[in-house]
Amino acid sequence: MAISLIISGTVLIFIFMGFGILCLRYSLNKKQADQEWSAHVPEKLSNFGSIESLTILPLIDWYAVKETLIGECGVSWLIQADRNNILLDTGANMKKQDPSPLLRNMKTLNIDLKEVQHLFISHPHMDHVGGIASQKARTVKLSTDDTDLSRMTLYTSTPMTHPSAKVVLIDKPRVLMPGVASEGPISRSLFGMGMIREQALVVNVTGKGLVLIAGCGHQGVEKIFERAEAVFDEPIFGFVGGLHYPVTESRMKMMGLPVQKLLGTGKLPWQKITRDEVKESIAFLKSKNLGLISISAHDSCDWTLDRFRKEFKGIYKELKVGLPITI
Ligand SMILES: [Zn+2]
Ligand SMILES: [Zn+2]
Repeated sequence: MAISLIISGTVLIFIFMGFGILCLRYSLNKKQADQEWSAHVPEKLSNFGSIESLTILPLIDWYAVKETLIGECGVSWLIQADRNNILLDTGANMKKQDPSPLLRNMKTLNIDLKEVQHLFISHPHMDHVGGIASQKARTVKLSTDDTDLSRMTLYTSTPMTHPSAKVVLIDKPRVLMPGVASEGPISRSLFGMGMIREQALVVNVTGKGLVLIAGCGHQGVEKIFERAEAVFDEPIFGFVGGLHYPVTESRMKMMGLPVQKLLGTGKLPWQKITRDEVKESIAFLKSKNLGLISISAHDSCDWTLDRFRKEFKGIYKELKVGLPITI
């Protein structure tokens, strides 16, 4: 009896210590991220060119437009900027399948990987780099086997390796090709997940302006816009992507836990994302007079999506696998 009490007590002490260490790491990272943000003055990227036509075709996301396409809790969108084809992220491949849902959806949609020259990784979370094994190995996969990406340039905001792609580390705002840029990494402390440095893609469409494309949106919508306004001269036309607003439900569950509500929010696990915060972001986006809004369902709940649909009637576009968003 006494021995079992000692063992239980010791286990509890270790659990509390582990939790304490996670809380400490979270607050130290938060302080560092805040300091980085206030000290950093990004260089301007004036006249970075423009493109005539932009199509964003979701290849992986939570919802799909028809049953023959697979939806999952991950992101992979094909960005067609004139003749440049950019794959933004590579999905989650949650069931570790080969070929992965991404490759199968590409086949269904007649997308030839040979015609994709660029791979842009928003940030190295499992739902964006092809699964937990890729996240752990600090690499990226399109399927469980290593797909040959020797024709591709991989733009990443955190150090990453790949057996065949040419890897380019993005540590500040940078033009990737005429009319297409990265606004550079923005740091955010995530409880239990460490510091994340996420980058958003920026595309300048002639006669419209900048379209900002974010993966999970861990940076926070205000910072994504503030960085774009500081770096580029062109007006912002639209926002497409994830904002991580799982208010009523979490798409991803691990051991029954709603991980997206507990982690990845930029807050402590008991401080949930609230409806008011979503409403504040909507008010912020309304103040920008945009011409396009499209929110990814992979890290936001249906309540959030409905709210955006109603508030941005006329400019809101559905983001679903197989449904192109054309500008
Ligand atoms: Zn995500
Ligand atoms: Zn993420």
